[in-house]
Amino acid sequence: MSASAALDVIRAAEESSGSLNAFLSIADPEAVSAAQASAGDGILRGTPIAVKDNLATLDLPTTCGSRHLEEYRSPFEATVVRRLRDAGGIVVGKTNMDEFGMGSSTEHSAFGVTLNPHDLARVPGGSSGGSAAAVAAGYVPMALGSDTGGSVRQPAALCGVVGIKPTHGRVSRYGLVAFASSLDQVGTFGRTVDEAARLLAAVSGHDPRDATSRDLPPLDPRELSGDAAPQDLAGVTVGVPAEYFPGRLDASVRERAEVALDWLRAAGAEVRDVTLPSTSLAVACYYVLAPAEASSNLARFDGVRFGRRVPADSVSTMYEATRGAGLGPEVKRRIMLGTFALSAGYYDAHYGVAQRVRASIRTEFGRVFSGGVDLLFTPTTPSPAFRIGEKIGNPLDMYREDVFTTPASLAGIPAMSVPIGHVDGLPVGGQILAPWWQEARMIHAARILESAGMAT
Ligand code: GLN
Repeated sequence: MSASAALDVIRAAEESSGSLNAFLSIADPEAVSAAQASAGDGILRGTPIAVKDNLATLDLPTTCGSRHLEEYRSPFEATVVRRLRDAGGIVVGKTNMDEFGMGSSTEHSAFGVTLNPHDLARVPGGSSGGSAAAVAAGYVPMALGSDTGGSVRQPAALCGVVGIKPTHGRVSRYGLVAFASSLDQVGTFGRTVDEAARLLAAVSGHDPRDATSRDLPPLDPRELSGDAAPQDLAGVTVGVPAEYFPGRLDASVRERAEVALDWLRAAGAEVRDVTLPSTSLAVACYYVLAPAEASSNLARFDGVRFGRRVPADSVSTMYEATRGAGLGPEVKRRIMLGTFALSAGYYDAHYGVAQRVRASIRTEFGRVFSGGVDLLFTPTTPSPAFRIGEKIGNPLDMYREDVFTTPASLAGIPAMSVPIGHVDGLPVGGQILAPWWQEARMIHAARILESAGMAT
């Protein structure tokens, strides 16, 4: 489908009463046809692509799902957006998200929840729920998201699409509005492994504007493509961490994961039990470190430097009124949590301990990968898509959604979610984790699962 045709479909669907509310803004038709006319011959030539609304764009707003940035227009463009355009991709709109990336359902968007295309009473996951839903609904074949603790992989799983979080440092974060900088990474969605991998290749590579981006050439799309892929997993050892199959895992997800492990075995992989004991602390660790970083990163949204200002008599009351009015309850909760974790007298007990747990998680992944394990396989989420409203009243229920995705974020390793079947009509995702910088190996294994799933 041409980008202009995709835009027509998106406009008609999103402006109708049955809208999924996947988009916060939609590109101008004339801009899209001009981009289409000059798209060139890159690896994304003419492909319509949706972009999460925390990535800076010149022509469209960048709200981060927040009232505070409703009127904000970026004076510059994120490196990933420029790269996808350079490769011939066409931005057709900006997608809905939990405010500043904080959430697992898009219910924390200031602009209303996105609906899951598989069941309109359920969430699409989050925080990149709009991007995942846009791909799952067939509006676009590819989309960009960001993943701090699972925000690409979890919505990909809940919407039945492919979602890749690369190694921390593989993709530039210049123009990604910071949430927790030591964890934030841009990721890609696709209907298929090939599509998600192609978009990743297009946006990857060193960027002098992001000091955390590793000085490596972009991923080679040919090396990630199906043509280069081994046809089986002979000689590949896949570890299954005991900690990712806890007693409370939803029985239907466990069953699909067992089937996926059979597919890996049938393709020739050796499947081996491993343990990663510290990963059971990952959610607790993440919910200290990510809010701590967020409390610092979000200080700039004060009505002076960025965002809407609520006028008041003094500077301090202006700050209070501005932040009180502009930021939603989850964002406020994170700022409070993070400020507490960093406060004098509590710093060592909270932030310091969490940093040490993070170091153990990293060390354990390193030990498993250097002990003969090439990849790890786990479920992406503990259950399929949950109902809108089901978890919003209890933050801990929402945080537990991230049990299987936060460990890879804390370690900085690449991880991706690939569909492994359905339970009662709802998609289930399997997660593949790879050693640092081994995206190609991970993508090839995901393709094996994808083709096994299609054959059944
Ligand atoms: N759900 C997690 C959180 O709320 C992860 C979000 C993300 O990756 N941006 O923080």
